Amino acid sequence: MHDYDDQNIFAKILRGEIPNSTVIETTHTLAFRDINPQAPVHVLVIPKGPYVSYDHFAGAASDEEILDFNRTAAKICEMENVQENGFRAISNTGTHGMQDVPHYHLHILGGRVMGPMTVPV
Ligand code: 5GP
Repeated sequence: MHDYDDQNIFAKILRGEIPNSTVIETTHTLAFRDINPQAPVHVLVIPKGPYVSYDHFAGAASDEEILDFNRTAAKICEMENVQENGFRAISNTGTHGMQDVPHYHLHILGGRVMGPMTVPV
């Protein structure tokens, strides 16, 4: 079940209702800087289509959208100069994943050692 809420903040960014610091825009993908960066490099990559989560996008998007998204993510890693030292690419999903914004987004974090992948709760 993937009901898309078109009032989410990233939908508003895509419609131009809220400004963003764009890193790159393609036919199917937009990438912009996180408003509350957790690392020197913190870019959010989002599809332009109405997908709620990683599994929604991976299962329902067209081949063209998926290819465009992934090629754009790779281009960002190159542009942001994180390939040599590495980076973390994560997508929080749903309640257990603690996803805040219900429009699929990939966080690309880099520029420092990221620490453990998860913290004990
Ligand atoms: P999530 O918790 O859903 O994985 O991540 C949502 C991310 O969106 C957070 O890192 C948060 O800082 C970022 N964010 C929330 N609102 C805005 C906004 O209006 N503009 C930008 N650029 N980032 C936002």
